[in-house]
Amino acid sequence: MRYEQFHQRSIDDPEGFWAEQAQAIDWHVPPRTILDDSDPVFRKWFVGGQTNLCHNAVDRHLAERADQLALVAISTETGITREISYRELHREVNAFAATLLELGVTRGDRVVIYMPNIAEAVFAMLACARIGAIHSVVFGGFASHNLAMRIDDARPALLIAADAGMRGGKVIPYMPLVAQALAEAEHPPAKVLVVNRGLDPAYVPVEGRDHDHAALRAAHLDADVSVTWLESNEPSYILYTSGTTGRPKGVQRDVGGYAVALALSMWAIYDVRPGQVMFSTSDVGWAVGHSYNVYGPLIAGATSILYEGLPTSPDAGIWWRICERYGVRTMFSSPTAVRVLKKHDAHWLQDADLSQLQYLFLAGEPLDEPTAQWIGDALSKTVIDNYWQTETGWPVLCLMPGLDMKPVKPGSPGLPAPGYRLRVIDEATGEDAAVGEKGVLVIQPPLPPGCMSTIWGNDERFVAGYFSHFREPLYSSLDWAIRDADGYAFILGRTDDVINVAGHRLGTREIEEAVATHGDVAEAAVVGIHDELKGQVPVVFVTLKPAAAAGSVETVGAALQQCVCDQLGAVARPAQVHVVGLLPKTRSGKLLRRSLQALAERRDPGDLSTLEDPAALEEVRRVLAGPVAA
Ligand code: ATP
Ligand code: MG
Repeated sequence: MRYEQFHQRSIDDPEGFWAEQAQAIDWHVPPRTILDDSDPVFRKWFVGGQTNLCHNAVDRHLAERADQLALVAISTETGITREISYRELHREVNAFAATLLELGVTRGDRVVIYMPNIAEAVFAMLACARIGAIHSVVFGGFASHNLAMRIDDARPALLIAADAGMRGGKVIPYMPLVAQALAEAEHPPAKVLVVNRGLDPAYVPVEGRDHDHAALRAAHLDADVSVTWLESNEPSYILYTSGTTGRPKGVQRDVGGYAVALALSMWAIYDVRPGQVMFSTSDVGWAVGHSYNVYGPLIAGATSILYEGLPTSPDAGIWWRICERYGVRTMFSSPTAVRVLKKHDAHWLQDADLSQLQYLFLAGEPLDEPTAQWIGDALSKTVIDNYWQTETGWPVLCLMPGLDMKPVKPGSPGLPAPGYRLRVIDEATGEDAAVGEKGVLVIQPPLPPGCMSTIWGNDERFVAGYFSHFREPLYSSLDWAIRDADGYAFILGRTDDVINVAGHRLGTREIEEAVATHGDVAEAAVVGIHDELKGQVPVVFVTLKPAAAAGSVETVGAALQQCVCDQLGAVARPAQVHVVGLLPKTRSGKLLRRSLQALAERRDPGDLSTLEDPAALEEVRRVLAGPVAA
């Protein structure tokens, strides 16, 4: 079917459209009502339907694909690869679910999972889903304060952790961080289930608090834990957003709508069918990990590849050899990861036999054209940008090669995904922006299945944060966009990333793109700082390519000012240009502009708990104290 018809039907007849899509999953009790939008903000999908994510991801496939691989968990840190069939996955998940029950976890209880990207994290998630417990996975790279904040918000009955993770060959003990977080939290769980990988010799179980996963697993290896059927709108999990713009929000997801949306996205967007292989390089701690390392591929009866390690270790060919080995059809990664690979020779990508690989999907941050171009050329595969948010759980903008592939337009994440009624709204007038004009990207309610139900425990923040920006109750993405005449959207940055120079509103992203056209620039971050005369002026931070000409640090400032003036006009001329070795980013690879801006204005950089590498901020401080490149 053509994309246009498919999407139009999802808008014109949402109930008919989603009733059909709902047939892709198993229902214990079919839904009574497909959509209840009596309250447009708190809409409900598949009301009265009873289902279970674990059943749909695991049990359902036993009849036809018990011996097919469900999960391949590869660690280049420990050197261990585990190939797990659907039959084995079923056994592990049952043992894990029995363990949770023994530890007193029941339906509706929260379980915080603080683990590296390993198979047990997946077992833990699925086991929670099986018994109706609500998991909240906290990215294993977060420090104790982040963990404590999330514990206090979710108030879990149990914490599941590993003794340690590994990164670049270095063991990172988790249990000291767990201990600190439990001490800091006001509502710490009494019990910790520890998956002891034997990586941290210093780990000693805490009497009365810690429970050993291996022992409990052995005791329950033949357990048969019946599935707890949940009403479609009950919470399945809580996942906190990256915290790029402020305090993370606990995104609450439902059960039935999520399963149906993922099932549709797997074939229509990612073009992965039962028995095929998907490799997402994400961590289970992120939204992509939840949807496309765990639930999506498994609901589809596909094989999911989970990877613990660096993209460049043992060398930059590792991901592509994995693609060859397992016949990966669809790969999913981030622009940040591609930029890391780009520092290495393209031959690493070409040495592997990639004949099975069809697509590389990238998401999570803007995909700049040089990066897209480089990886597209290096792989000779279709590179597809897709835009979404933790809140939506699956793409908002994408191309749909499994249905009807439309041309890639560089710089655009594509067209609205099914069920999304997208509009671009002029911020000042609240009216729809004309083609080619910039506005706020919004979703006209009802949000399609799969999108967040609310912010955990905070309906008011959900309404105030997302639905209160315009006269009508529209869901604001908080991102700027324009749409072209073919309906393709271009994301221009976040609505709080705007610089107001003498009354001209400039997107930081536009200036960054202008700067990035200079051949020596590897990456750029632009912020606005206070200026007595103009209100705000742009300040540029750049990293240079390793091959940048000697002496460019001295000359690049003036050259970049010129680049910006040529492309955007003199009003956008950067007041300062700073060359740094590293830009401050969140753990999920997003630029922390708010901290850069604070430092450039000599203010406190604020909450740094999501910062990836404190050295980046130190360097910014140092550079700001020294001479300015322009
Ligand atoms: P927080 O909401 O806590 O500040 P965050 O917005 O970074 O954090 P995520 O949900 O992980 O948390 O990120 C979603 C955001 O990432 C989008 O709103 C958008 O700004 C950006 N983004 C994601 N994919 C793309 C893409 N393909 N192109 C451009 N921007 C993207
Ligand atoms: Mg956000």
